[in-house]
Amino acid sequence: MPDTLPPSSVVRCTQHLGKLDSKALEPVDQLLLILPERIPTALWKRIPQGARMQALMRKRTKGDLPALQTRLANKRQTLVVAGRVKAGGDAFARLTFARRLVGAALGEKAGCLGIAVLGFDDENTRDLAEAAVAAALAASFNLPEFKAKPTPSRIRSLRLLGLAERLDLSRTYAEARGNNLARWLTALPPNVLDATGYAGALKELADEQGWQYKRYSTKELEKMGAGAFLAVAQGNDNDSASIVRLRYRPDKASTGPDLSLVGKGIIFDTGGTNLKPFLSMLDMHGDMGGSAVAVGTLLAMSELKLPLAVDCWLAITENRTGPNAYKSQDVITALNGKTIQTIHTDAEGRMVLADTLTMATREEPGLVIDYATLTGAVINALTTRYSGVFTNHADWHPRLKRAGRASGERVWPFPIGDEFLEDLKSDTADIQQCSAKPLGDHILAGSFMAEFIEKDTPWVHVDLAASHHKGGLAHVPTEVTGFGVRFTLSLVLDEKILEDSE
Ligand SMILES: [Zn+2]
Repeated sequence: MPDTLPPSSVVRCTQHLGKLDSKALEPVDQLLLILPERIPTALWKRIPQGARMQALMRKRTKGDLPALQTRLANKRQTLVVAGRVKAGGDAFARLTFARRLVGAALGEKAGCLGIAVLGFDDENTRDLAEAAVAAALAASFNLPEFKAKPTPSRIRSLRLLGLAERLDLSRTYAEARGNNLARWLTALPPNVLDATGYAGALKELADEQGWQYKRYSTKELEKMGAGAFLAVAQGNDNDSASIVRLRYRPDKASTGPDLSLVGKGIIFDTGGTNLKPFLSMLDMHGDMGGSAVAVGTLLAMSELKLPLAVDCWLAITENRTGPNAYKSQDVITALNGKTIQTIHTDAEGRMVLADTLTMATREEPGLVIDYATLTGAVINALTTRYSGVFTNHADWHPRLKRAGRASGERVWPFPIGDEFLEDLKSDTADIQQCSAKPLGDHILAGSFMAEFIEKDTPWVHVDLAASHHKGGLAHVPTEVTGFGVRFTLSLVLDEKILEDSE
């Protein structure tokens, strides 16, 4: 039986400077050879048994991936999988290339995977090596299995070869750990990751990482008046639902948060009283994916020891049918005092997030980012290749897109605001939960949630259209993508968005 938390051991990566010679290749079982589109003859001379490879590659069609697959005549009969890639491509193209190349190398027994990037300038060498390591770390990680014979990991160790200088891979490693955690939690069955199991796993993780842990039980939330969260939670047959707050502080000082991450943690979404049909409900144990991305991001930031005070808020409950479940036309009072006319019980994500965003923003973070598998509309708009972003700082749209491009987790901004609230006008309450018409629900959801942000807190909402993508996405080989960790790190570290969110 796997644990609720993934194994914490990570595949080790060693770096070897200098020539790629047969000695450096001795322990390597599979070698990824990453080469430019046009390979000068001088380059083949730098590769052991290069002349033979050059001859073999002539027989291949341009654009083949792998461009070459052969074995070295050495003791280990190292499998060589070569790929040709254009210099200067974007992160998504690089990561996708890396996923495919790693995939081609892993058809056989687990072992030491070597990576050599040859024939590029320093910047491209670094970017391509980083992409290959990211793809290898994602591929080495197995999602939870409950079989008599679990699948062994396909990579035992990594070896970067032929480098001119050492690479700093700490961010790649931290992002991989965050992404792996997000994918693991999302893939767990809903009877293992139930609300109690989830809160317990978060407590265990918090203890391990030295984070503060606070669980707001339904009783406490009742006292506080978090009616929007509780409307969804009241359909459960027990009171295991809760809002959990995790706190990472880089030093002991009890400062307020610079950044708050908020996640939708619907353990299983039946749709509630407005029940989903079978196929729409089939994968609804993944409806807590937003919360998993929030925790994964916190883990990556904490592993990197970022000098930022980060809070993480997770809204954890099921959305069930039953005699106590909320229903259309119920009028509910949210934590911030606004009344909500319920329209559709399957629009539960914005309900639980409304109160959680109020709680998070009352602590006046410099920025709040929420993650949620929120709407089908965003998938209709974008497919599952991009995720949708929404913000109360419309001037940030270009920066959000840039962070998406730089990280390989691509996002596309949509508008929100008062204008769209016209579609949520209610006769019986301050606001309607959603519209009965199927137009732009992702935009209406974002506009609705903006009404629960307090203190004018700068806010970014990520509607995770790309949380699942058949065949994997970018460097990630599984359908569950853990999308969002790399994007957020890029937004904070590359775009330095916190410096402008005062
Ligand atoms: Zn739903």
